[in-house]
Amino acid sequence: MRGKHGHHVTASRQHRWKPGSRVGSTGHVKVRVGRSHPLADPNGWAYEHLVVWCAAGRPRPGRGEVLHHLNEDKTDNRIENLHLMTKSEHNALHLRNRPRCPETGRLLDGVEHNALPEVRS
Ligand SMILES: [Zn+2]
Repeated sequence: MRGKHGHHVTASRQHRWKPGSRVGSTGHVKVRVGRSHPLADPNGWAYEHLVVWCAAGRPRPGRGEVLHHLNEDKTDNRIENLHLMTKSEHNALHLRNRPRCPETGRLLDGVEHNALPEVRS
């Protein structure tokens, strides 16, 4: 998953961030909602995309369902950027979007591909 980390969130994106939000280890934004919130973890934080989704009156994603970020920016939690899909659909989508070596079909994650020996014609 190299390369993805290469582009940083632009300053214009940052200003949308509410105070009391942070980016979790998965790259998703978490917001402080208090422990009594139905979406909160034991520490009183909840994933912003879930909060936004549920606030829009949509049912909370069930087991085996995920909210996909249409522009692949996990910090962009506008409702129009969120799309409910099953985990298997989601995995397939991300595998498809990841560049593959046209010859070997291997997923390219930068390092590995560059380490491949040069192909002679
Ligand atoms: Zn996704």
